[in-house]
Amino acid sequence: MLHQSVKKMSYHVVLQRLPALLADAGFRGDIANDAALLAAMSTDNSTYTVMPDIVVAPRDAEDVRRLMRVLAADDLRGVPVTARGGGTGTNGQSLNAGIIVDFQKYMNRLLQVNEKEQWAEVEPGIVLDELNAQLAGTGLFFAPTTSTASRCTIGGMVSTDASGKGSRRYGKTSDNVLGMEIVVDGGRTLDSGAPTPDWANAMLAEIEAACSSGRDALLGQVPALSRRFTGYDLERAKPPEGDLEWWRLPIGAEGTLGLVTRVRLHLMRKPKFKRLVVIGFETFAAALDAGSALLAHDPLAIEVMDEWVQGLAERAGILQALPVGLRARDGRPIAYNFVEFVGDDEADLARHVEALRESTLTLAGAIASHVAVDDIEMAALWQVRAASVGLLGKVSGTRRPIAFVEDCVVPVENLAAFVKDFTGLLSSNGLSYGMYGHVDVGCLHIRPALDIDSDEDRTIMKAISDGVFDLTRRHGGIFWGEHGKGVRGAYLAEFVGEAAYDAFRRVKRAFDPAHRFNPGKLVGDPQSLMGIATTPFRSVKTDENDPLGLAFRCNGNAQCLSYQRSNVMCPSFKATRDLRHSPKGRADALRHWHQEKRQGDAIEELDSDVLAALDGCLGCKACATSCPVQVDIPEMKSHFLEQFYRTRRRSLADKAALLLEEYSPVLIRYRKLMAVFARIFNPLMEKASGLRDLPFISFHDVGTGGYKTFSVEVIAQRRWHEDTVFVWRDPFTALFDTQAALALADGLRGFGYRPVFVAMRPGGKAAHGLGDRPRFIRQARKLRAAIDKVAESGRPMVGVDPAFVMMIRQDYANAGLAGQNILLVQEFLSEEVARGRGLPRLNRERLPRKLFLHCSESAGAGATAWKKVFAALGAPVEIAATGCCGMAGLFGHQQRHQDLSKHIFDLSWTGQLRGEKQAMVSGFSCRCQTKRFSSIRGEHPMRWVADAIDVG
Ligand SMILES: Cc1cc2nc3c(=O)[nH]c(=O)nc-3n(C[C@H](O)[C@H](O)[C@H](O)COP(=O)(O)OP(=O)(O)OC[C@H]3O[C@@H](n4cnc5c(N)ncnc54)[C@H](O)[C@@H]3O)c2cc1C
Ligand code: SF4
Ligand code: SF4
Repeated sequence: MLHQSVKKMSYHVVLQRLPALLADAGFRGDIANDAALLAAMSTDNSTYTVMPDIVVAPRDAEDVRRLMRVLAADDLRGVPVTARGGGTGTNGQSLNAGIIVDFQKYMNRLLQVNEKEQWAEVEPGIVLDELNAQLAGTGLFFAPTTSTASRCTIGGMVSTDASGKGSRRYGKTSDNVLGMEIVVDGGRTLDSGAPTPDWANAMLAEIEAACSSGRDALLGQVPALSRRFTGYDLERAKPPEGDLEWWRLPIGAEGTLGLVTRVRLHLMRKPKFKRLVVIGFETFAAALDAGSALLAHDPLAIEVMDEWVQGLAERAGILQALPVGLRARDGRPIAYNFVEFVGDDEADLARHVEALRESTLTLAGAIASHVAVDDIEMAALWQVRAASVGLLGKVSGTRRPIAFVEDCVVPVENLAAFVKDFTGLLSSNGLSYGMYGHVDVGCLHIRPALDIDSDEDRTIMKAISDGVFDLTRRHGGIFWGEHGKGVRGAYLAEFVGEAAYDAFRRVKRAFDPAHRFNPGKLVGDPQSLMGIATTPFRSVKTDENDPLGLAFRCNGNAQCLSYQRSNVMCPSFKATRDLRHSPKGRADALRHWHQEKRQGDAIEELDSDVLAALDGCLGCKACATSCPVQVDIPEMKSHFLEQFYRTRRRSLADKAALLLEEYSPVLIRYRKLMAVFARIFNPLMEKASGLRDLPFISFHDVGTGGYKTFSVEVIAQRRWHEDTVFVWRDPFTALFDTQAALALADGLRGFGYRPVFVAMRPGGKAAHGLGDRPRFIRQARKLRAAIDKVAESGRPMVGVDPAFVMMIRQDYANAGLAGQNILLVQEFLSEEVARGRGLPRLNRERLPRKLFLHCSESAGAGATAWKKVFAALGAPVEIAATGCCGMAGLFGHQQRHQDLSKHIFDLSWTGQLRGEKQAMVSGFSCRCQTKRFSSIRGEHPMRWVADAIDVG
């Protein structure tokens, strides 16, 4: 097998004219070539990286035509054009030099639905989950799915012929497409729903001839499996007795034939009921062997997960929902089969499930089973399966699981033997691996762990790839059964044989005579094709303890590109749909910056592009908790800013925030004077610094509620009553939000505790966020010592603001300053309840309906703890399904972020607050934002709790 090196050309010079040409042509979308965006577009979930030259995001199909018309100019004709959807490809499908066309940013609309005929027309950038959410009211859905349903686009699914759970019954994407519109060179458009334009007659005649010439050869060569067609679909594009259906050819073509601008999809009726059975097995081999027996019950899907992945999921704490019998036994992980049934007749469904359950009793190696009926539980369990790939990225050490032979399909009856040979090949090369996949269609996901930065492992990777290619064919299978081909396209000619490949070449030439659409993929001269061993690799190596090391651990699985409004991840991406403003994009930008710096290539422009990408980060920390490998962007931003400002002056706003934090104890001492002074000072400061809606210093302190504040030294000297609880504040809540502190103390007092305030001292939150690392470390060390000292009293400690508590937990640990924890108030109370402390009942009439959490606590255990507390208080509340509020400390006060901040608030908070008069709002930032953008009374939850304690 010969793999030639990818010819990487830079089109930078000729593309300098493009923005002006596009503007003249009336192009309305975005055109950008800043380094952060290019870095973000240079990776997907594969191990490769190819830096593009420019990124365009068209607004609509007309923009795509404008683009292609401009690119018809002689000096631009050689520039590659590659479509990109969600960028979740596992083999570099959407990576290329030249122009990347970003479809997910704007071209993401559901255009038309015909419920009667069960079809929908969509733009290609619509995300699968978004589409199905918009169809929810119709009872219809687009059935093919992927584990990346939350972020992959229909354009990407069509172009890779994606499929996943349920494909045995629903088919693949290609089985559910009814037509499309595609734009080719010169901006010419082919629409399967419109009469053929004159210019296309000769082209379609050539395509028809090519299909007819290669069809039999292709069918003779490719195994007749359900996930069959490979390359261009000659089989269905021109059946012997039928007309040419040219629109079937771009399906699975990975963008090599043109830019798809509209797709008509077949929709199915949503089944009324579903059930999920999870079966635990002693070994993965036993789980696989059970495949045929389980299949006899005709479920919708059977998915398998091996012991390695189960162990990772167990350690990540995401198996909590499973009964004990299905958890690791004596520390030994187990394997799972997930079996799903769907139907419209509930009784019939129950019979199927029961029959399957009974049969598991006789299955060798089966340990236990569990039936999930509740939709939320089923979704949570499927989430476990969907998280598998992300979990693999968590593996420590230099060898990490890599996708390159990860979706082979063999006949189900050959699966066990195939796996034996496959794993034998890996073991003989000393490689470990994780495995999961779709047993029902014989498709397994196997990711061998390799050190991609080592020459030796790269050689092994190529050898394994060649070996698995041969093995798959020997077992009557297909090398790329699910995820498309990408750079594996270099194997295509050998796989389909010369005659079929010749027909592919003719099809490619007819659609794309200039050979400009995603060149180097699938079809082309051997020397121009990208190959596994020759496409540049994305480095994963940094020095141990490198503060930017996490940027190198981002594996591009794109879980952070969430569009779901109620999800905490990632507010800046959700609001902008701009990849550079996502955790993935920021990690890519930081990695690129770090590498350039290492090579001594750093340039001013690159610094400011990376700064711009990081400036949009709210510091909400959702990435630090919800990304499978905890890519903590705020932590890395802090280190980047430290280096950035070594040679630059800080803004007045930054300096003011740093000084405010540093001197907060002094300001507090003169609180009343400062509160009066702030009436004059705030407007002046806003004018001079570009900050907006600055809060005013509270005139009174907690003494007005009868509470005492003591210094750490005094606390250390005294003995304290067993009901004492020490309350910590950060400078911002201490200065600006006495009400919250009183609320928390009143609530604790109402429960019989004796709250005592610890004299506030700066903890370095502003310094951390602004990258003043020496100041942060200095302040953090002092606060850490103070916390540890107070902890010696043996009395519990709680914090008023969740962001402050979580900062101490996360950022102090990152700085090597882990120690005694301050608890969130709900953590403290739920622990007390668990220890048997009785809490008074609340008068529910006095409580708001909803509790709005700060994103730093909702991503962690904060939400569960609140639920437990309110249950114990006899007043269950609804936790509002929100993401970030858009304020996040200083972010929402900065003039340049005003629009974004409001937009983020509107994404989830505005809707959740609609119809409410009052709300429990746990975060200081969130209360400020609620006050700015709504007329609702939002108070700390403990205010409401304190006022609702039923004294009668
Ligand atoms: C964790 C993980 C799990 C996965 N699980 C599955 C799975 O269960 N099933 C599955 O099938 N795949 C799976 N994949 C692979 C991937 O998600 C799918 O291939 C998905 O369909 C790609 O969609 P996308 O929008 O991300 O496309 P991209 O990766 O952006 O692009 C894929 C290809 O489509 C082309 N393309 C995109 N839009 C257009 C357009 N408008 N016109 C022309 N060409 C276009 C691109 O050029 C590229 O060649 C998984 C990937 C990951 C990372
Ligand atoms: S930041 Fe995390 S979730 Fe996002 S692509 Fe990287 S590893 Fe995946
Ligand atoms: S901290 Fe929040 S805004 Fe910043 S990258 Fe992470 S998820 Fe996005």
